[in-house]
Amino acid sequence: MSLLDVAREEERRRRGGLPPVPVSPRPAGGWLRRSGHHWKVRAAQWIGVSPVLLLLVWFVGVRAYPGKQEPRWLVSLFTAGMLSTVPTAIAAFSLRASVRCRVCGLRLGSCAEARRLRLHKWLWVQTLEACPVCGDDGAASEAGRARWIASGSVSEPVYWSRQRVLAALMITAAMVAAFFWYVLHLKA
Ligand SMILES: [Zn+2]
Repeated sequence: MSLLDVAREEERRRRGGLPPVPVSPRPAGGWLRRSGHHWKVRAAQWIGVSPVLLLLVWFVGVRAYPGKQEPRWLVSLFTAGMLSTVPTAIAAFSLRASVRCRVCGLRLGSCAEARRLRLHKWLWVQTLEACPVCGDDGAASEAGRARWIASGSVSEPVYWSRQRVLAALMITAAMVAAFFWYVLHLKA
């Protein structure tokens, strides 16, 4: 059944005073799992924390060699930890930013409600049973899409516009440049 067929069926039922097209039983797991985005949130957590883990191992390692010249692998570990901070932060951000409703396009990690909840937003996303804007259960069924189109509602504007992303990247680049300049300045 195509999207148009579903919309026609919806219209026919609405005119005839019949109940809407029944939605197929939803598989368990909340909106995040049903929409297939759950692995992105999990992966972003591990990617985001990986430089911290590297630096933690370096920190413990350095303590194991007090007063002695630390081995080369420890220095490499520190360099890897420092250099991977920005790329992993960008990767984690991109993964989280791609968590969006396939029906109305709502970006769950940066929508108005998520911005209000700040640090608790991913806990909120994990407890969602349906998209807070269009009501899709995550399956993005044709009936759900047709219902959203028929409702005539508009999607929430994307928060991370091109200008905002560009501004954030420039601020990050300036901070990294300032940090490296400071470190080189100390060594000189
Ligand atoms: Zn939606």
